[in-house]
Amino acid sequence: MRLPAEYIGLPREEALERTAAARQKLGKDVVILGHHYQSDDIIRFADFRGDSLELSRTAAGQKDARYIVFCGVSFMAETAAMLCASHQAVLMPAMEAPCPMAMMASVADAEVAWRHVAGAWGEENVIPITYQNSSAELKAFCGRHGGAVCTSANARAVFRWAIDQGKRILFFPDEWLGKNTALALGYSLEQVAVWDPGAPFGGDPDLDSAQIVVWKGYCHVHTHFTVAHVEEARRRYPGCTVIVHPECPVPVVQAADLNGSTSYIIKQVQAAPAGSTFVVGTECNMVYRLDREQPDKTVVPLTKSFCGTMARTTIAHLLYTLESLLEGRLVGHITVDPETTRWANIALERMLSI
Ligand code: SF4
Repeated sequence: MRLPAEYIGLPREEALERTAAARQKLGKDVVILGHHYQSDDIIRFADFRGDSLELSRTAAGQKDARYIVFCGVSFMAETAAMLCASHQAVLMPAMEAPCPMAMMASVADAEVAWRHVAGAWGEENVIPITYQNSSAELKAFCGRHGGAVCTSANARAVFRWAIDQGKRILFFPDEWLGKNTALALGYSLEQVAVWDPGAPFGGDPDLDSAQIVVWKGYCHVHTHFTVAHVEEARRRYPGCTVIVHPECPVPVVQAADLNGSTSYIIKQVQAAPAGSTFVVGTECNMVYRLDREQPDKTVVPLTKSFCGTMARTTIAHLLYTLESLLEGRLVGHITVDPETTRWANIALERMLSI
């Protein structure tokens, strides 16, 4: 679905004013959620901002709101739709904003990998785990096979849950979060094999010595960062703290001082003493906002890296969604079929119980 012509090229100030007016008229019927990587124009209207899981949990807790307007990417809105009550509708202003990394792991390809890996290790010895940044169908696949979802904030705990049961792990779709988590748990890279869905037999990974198989997927925003960027940051900002997201490649995470989820990064900056300098390896909208909101500290991006999919939600999109609601129309309504929801929620609930 496209943005109607009258909303395209709307002057920004007019769009902001009309959004504020529409938002006020809609009152408690609507809750607006904004992911940390959204632009300031969107975040200023967000009732809640957070990472994807925080926002989905928030959505599930807003029982009075009939409409959850989720400013983020598709997998986030899908998760919110699966966790919400039946009287609520989740709307995504961007209408279509699939995360490129989530699209790197289709269920059809996951089934092929599962047959190969579980065939080699024995189905009873392997647990599939998917990052929250994946489709509802892949979450359901993991739910059906005794697996779970994880986030960048709890990946270690979810991996540990599988390992403590004596199981090996098949992890989707982010190679780097998988490897960084395995290393943090004391595994060596020799114990982590990579399944390449684009290669015959997944690139024929060595499954004899591997304990964990990670999918060859990546987030282009985070793989943009290099060790050279870290070295340059240390030259430009002596004494700085380099903090990066675990979707960054292993050498970048190893060269940094700290790594963690968006929420972790924000907490570290907020808790630091005045005068601290942070060089941050994650999406630049969040980094620039952190710098503005922590005026007694210096917060700069490791290098400018931007998520074009997140940027699909503009103020004109949000305005169109809200004004359509005022006219009694739902646009960008995200739904997930009941069977997928059932199994995906099992994988999500396993994560929440860990
Ligand atoms: S930042 Fe990366 S993981 Fe997040 S939505 Fe953009 S491409 Fe996907």
